[in-house]
Amino acid sequence: MTNGRHTLIAGPCSAETREQVLETAKGLKDFEIDYFRAGIWKPRTRPGEFEGVGSEALPWMQEVKDSFSLKICTEVAKAKHVEEVLKAGFDMIWVGARSTANPFTVQEIAEALKGVQIPVMVKNPTNPDLKLWLGAVERIQYAGINNISVIHRGFSTYQKTQFRNNPNWQIPIDFRQERPDIPMICDPSHIGGRTHLLQEIAQKALDLKYDGLMIETHCNPMNAWTDAKQQITPNYLNELLSNLIVRDYSEIEADEIQQLRAQINIKDEELIQILKDRMAISEKIGYFKKDRNSAVYQPTRWEEVLRNNVIKAMDAQLSDDFSKELFKLIHQESIRIQSEILAKKK
Ligand code: PEP
Ligand code: MN
Repeated sequence: MTNGRHTLIAGPCSAETREQVLETAKGLKDFEIDYFRAGIWKPRTRPGEFEGVGSEALPWMQEVKDSFSLKICTEVAKAKHVEEVLKAGFDMIWVGARSTANPFTVQEIAEALKGVQIPVMVKNPTNPDLKLWLGAVERIQYAGINNISVIHRGFSTYQKTQFRNNPNWQIPIDFRQERPDIPMICDPSHIGGRTHLLQEIAQKALDLKYDGLMIETHCNPMNAWTDAKQQITPNYLNELLSNLIVRDYSEIEADEIQQLRAQINIKDEELIQILKDRMAISEKIGYFKKDRNSAVYQPTRWEEVLRNNVIKAMDAQLSDDFSKELFKLIHQESIRIQSEILAKKK
């Protein structure tokens, strides 16, 4: 990635020690990063884990700024944090995912920002709720802040997926539709949760024309005090960035096609997941049928499924030929799966 159009934010999940902060910043200083990040106050889902070193880390960050000419940013979660980082000369702050989910917290941060100008980034809330995200941005905006961007860091899910936080790409896409004026930054680290997923997520973000990336970077990732599985070294970051393909967005038509195709790919992935979940349910029904010694093919039920879905599909402007064919195929596959179960000895 070698152009000035994307904002790049890198640095450790948490500031741990002065040495770790400075060593990481030293590794990053020659790469084209715009901001050095480090969490000073860490919101932990459960108590008893490392909660950040707190105010003690403020001078370490100032040292990064002075020694390496890097701009510095951190997460704020209450008015006191805002006051401290403003006093310490931070260049940018962000509202974390857990805070965005709580309007009281966002309002407290917004009140503390009244009368000052500092760029603010708002991470998506932990839950997949577009309105909460939009609302948090509005609260910061109504406090008078005019440089606001948002960070897509994925959404919590109880399902087990390959991601730490499900990307739900449709939500940031919808966000941008509502607020095309707000730059969108992707945080592949918290989406992926593991380093081997970062490249692909970052590339997808660029293909969707995001405006920047925030990637957790640590001088010694394996021994990081928080988020050890997802952090990469400065050199690894450099390699990841040089492997990214920045598409040429200059031709409006090509640009639009690129974005639409990326959206189609996401929809196809979702379709596959939905089909997989549907077949898993069929499988469970197969075991019930086996226990009760009932037939796999149940004509009344099948007619009902077909009729209901064809009507719903027509309401959704899908042709009846297409939806009939599609549901026949799905039904055949369910029958195949259940027949296999019934054929099993035990
Ligand atoms: C972080 O950036 O380290 C962090 C805690 O992020 P999030 O609020 O997205 O969980
Ligand atoms: Mn983190």
